[in-house]
Amino acid sequence: MAIVKEKVIEINHFTDRLFRFKTTRNPGTRFRDGEFLMIGLEIDGKPLLRAYSVASPNYERFMEWFSIKVPNGPLTSKLQLIKIGDEIITNTKAVGTLVLDNLKTGRNLYLLATGTGIAPFMSLIRGIETYDNYEKVILLWSTRFAKELGYNKYLEQLNHDRNLRDIIQNKFYYYPSVTREEWKNTGRISTVIYNGSIQTKLGIENFDKEKDRVMVCGSMPMNIEFKKYFTEKLGCKEGNSSIKGEIVFEKSFVEKC
Ligand SMILES: Cc1cc2nc3c(=O)[nH]c(=O)nc-3n(C[C@H](O)[C@H](O)[C@H](O)COP(=O)(O)OP(=O)(O)OC[C@H]3O[C@@H](n4cnc5c(N)ncnc54)[C@H](O)[C@@H]3O)c2cc1C
Repeated sequence: MAIVKEKVIEINHFTDRLFRFKTTRNPGTRFRDGEFLMIGLEIDGKPLLRAYSVASPNYERFMEWFSIKVPNGPLTSKLQLIKIGDEIITNTKAVGTLVLDNLKTGRNLYLLATGTGIAPFMSLIRGIETYDNYEKVILLWSTRFAKELGYNKYLEQLNHDRNLRDIIQNKFYYYPSVTREEWKNTGRISTVIYNGSIQTKLGIENFDKEKDRVMVCGSMPMNIEFKKYFTEKLGCKEGNSSIKGEIVFEKSFVEKC
C-alpha cells in the first residue's frame, strides 16, 4: 500500500465532537466519488491509519475530510489537534461500495445519512456524474443535535453555489433532521421515508423501486433498519462491483444512535 504525506491547508471545528479539514492532494491519489481511503498520522515513527470517506469530489485538487473526535480514540484524539501546515498520511488507492458504478441509473437518487455518514455524500452531491445519472438527488441527513449538522448552511444554498450551480442544475433536494432536541425538523429519517411525508415536504414524486435508487451511510442500526425496509420489504436489489443494483450500503461508523 503506497502511503503519501499530505499537508493540512484548512480546518473548521464545528463542535467539540466534529471537525472538517482539507489537505493537499497527491497527483497519484485516485478515487471515485463516494469512496474511502485510509488516512492518519505517523505516531512514534509508525503509521496509525483509519478508514475515511473522501468528502470532496474527485475533480478537486485538494482532499476534504469530515471527522469525529472520539475521546481517547487512538487516531482522532490526536488528529483533532492538527494545525494548518501539519502533515497527515494517506494511502492513494480508494475503495468502497457507495459509488455510482454499483447502482443502475434511474430517476431519483436518495442519499440517506446519519452523523459522519454524510462524508461520502458530500463528495457525491458535488460530483458531475451524479447529476448526469439522475433527475433529482435527494439528501436526508440526521444528527443528534442541530449544531452537529456542520454542513447545514452550505447544503441549504448548494443549488445556488456559484461554482457548482452549472453542475447541480437545481437538481439537489435536502432534508436535515435532528433526533435529540427540538428543531425545525425532528425525528429519525426513517420516519419520513416510511410514512411518505418526505416526498410531500420536498415536493417530489413518491418513491418507486423501479425508478429510484438509494445509498445508505451511517450507524449500524440505520443500516440494519434500511436493509430490512428497502431490500426485504420493497425488494430493492443490493448493488456491488459485479452487478449494478438499486441500493448500496456502507458502514462509515459503528456508533449506536
Ligand atoms: C468505510 C469507513 C469509512 C469511514 N469514514 C469516516 C469518516 O468519513 N469520518 C469519520 O469521522 N469516521 C469515519 N470512519 C470511522 C473511522 O475509521 C474511525 O473509526 C474514527 O476516525 C475514529 O478513530 P479512532 O482511532 O479515534 O477511534 P476508533 O478506535 O476507530 O473508534 C472508537 C469508537 O469510536 C466510535 N466511532 C468511530 N468512528 C465514529 C464516527 N465516525 N462517528 C461516531 N462514532 C464513531 C465507535 O464507537 C468506535 O468503536 C469510517 C469507517 C469506515 C469503516
